[in-house]
Amino acid sequence: MQERTDAVLFDFGGVFTASPFGATEEFGRALGTDPARLLEIVFGPYDQDTDHPWHRVERGELDLVGARNEILALGEKEGVPADPFKVFERMATSGGARSDMVDRARSIRAAGIRTALVTNNVREFRDAWRRMVPVEELFEVVIDSSEVGVRKPDPRIFELALAQLGGIAPHHTVFLDDYPGNVEAAVRLGIRGILVEADPTAALASLDRILAGAR
Ligand SMILES: [Mg+2]
Repeated sequence: MQERTDAVLFDFGGVFTASPFGATEEFGRALGTDPARLLEIVFGPYDQDTDHPWHRVERGELDLVGARNEILALGEKEGVPADPFKVFERMATSGGARSDMVDRARSIRAAGIRTALVTNNVREFRDAWRRMVPVEELFEVVIDSSEVGVRKPDPRIFELALAQLGGIAPHHTVFLDDYPGNVEAAVRLGIRGILVEADPTAALASLDRILAGAR
């Protein structure tokens, strides 16, 4: 039987915007470096929660400049100029928010379904990303990893979102993210996960099917 949906949790980067990972891969190709290696140097093993500087900055334990310096040092060991700031420059030129995703979040909330943003983010980016979408209008709850000190794929970040929404059951929840490891972490809790690819059309169709109660 199709479960009813009480809440939809959204990731931010790569869901409401183009993928940060895509920007990193482009940067890797431009440098003549293996894009996968560059991704690993800059963002660490992203399907895990570790002491890599990027994971610490996302948990709010390290400032952005400190993280950049540590990542540059990791790259230097392999002769790779792995400057996260160059990646962010590419992201900044990759367009604004996806209006189709913004519209969907708005209509979901208007339909009475609870909404939350669950984002691995950086304290220093806060003002910039919050200007990209009408955060207060779209989301009842905002969980920013750098504020709560917990980041995806740690299951506690999803549990925190569901608790702040008033105790929604995981199996009545849908989660959208562009990173497979994050979707898998949510699915392990019993949340229904949707992977958002570079073209979000299929993800939006999946979301519509789930909300319509069809398989
Ligand atoms: Mg993302």
